[in-house]
Amino acid sequence: MASLLVHRHRSDDANTPVNAYLIEGSDGIVGVDATLTVSGGRGLRARAEALGKPLLGVVVTHAHPDHYGGLVELVAGRDVPVFATKRVHDVIRRDDPVKEQILRPMFGDQWPAARAFPTDVVADGETIELGDIALTVTDLGPSESPADSIWTLTREPRRVFSADIAYDRTHCYLADGFYEPWLASIHRLRAELAPGTTLHPGHGEPAGLEILDWQERYLETMLEAVRDADWDDPATAQASVIARMRTWLPSDQLAFLMELSVRPLAERLGVES
Ligand SMILES: [Zn+2]
Repeated sequence: MASLLVHRHRSDDANTPVNAYLIEGSDGIVGVDATLTVSGGRGLRARAEALGKPLLGVVVTHAHPDHYGGLVELVAGRDVPVFATKRVHDVIRRDDPVKEQILRPMFGDQWPAARAFPTDVVADGETIELGDIALTVTDLGPSESPADSIWTLTREPRRVFSADIAYDRTHCYLADGFYEPWLASIHRLRAELAPGTTLHPGHGEPAGLEILDWQERYLETMLEAVRDADWDDPATAQASVIARMRTWLPSDQLAFLMELSVRPLAERLGVES
């Protein structure tokens, strides 16, 4: 069987660089995630159409809107199954009205007026087969988002669509507060994934397992920065955490996600007075 091609589609719309993927088999294509915006989803669709093969299905890795917002554009007018774990499916449905409240003012019409959702629920460890493309899901539960999963090319198990378990060295979103299970998922994947595995992350370039180590250090640095800040004055504390993280990682890439996370983390850690 021919090896599968993996095309990375990066959307930079709305100042939010995010990846979706198109897996190209002999007779068709499977999408992995769908970016945040209307134009991101349209770009992904155009890219799939340019490959000249039918879209056989889509999988959604986790419950954050920068990965399912563009789905409605990708599948519009098509009867294409969209797969997710039960937890990913349920959390997207549950939280979408809240995401609408938050994202509409931030992104205006670039946040789709109506969103599409997963249609087919898959169990942990289950494999889906679409043409000659087979993908096996691992349900990780809450990690970076309230519901995360990774998808492995079943016949090429060193190629893994790793959601946002490890960003590729950009700032990160911690506002959902599941840093303990997130760290546990990192430890689990480090133990379970074979050396030489390529991770296809939700943000940044394909990378090796070393980004799991990087992600662990990022989370620990952020937690330490929030704990160390003097929360008698919340505004100063917040600024000090942001400054410390920007010194640790001198990059603007997705810095707004980190900045949005400081106060929710402080609340979660019980340090904000
Ligand atoms: Zn993301």
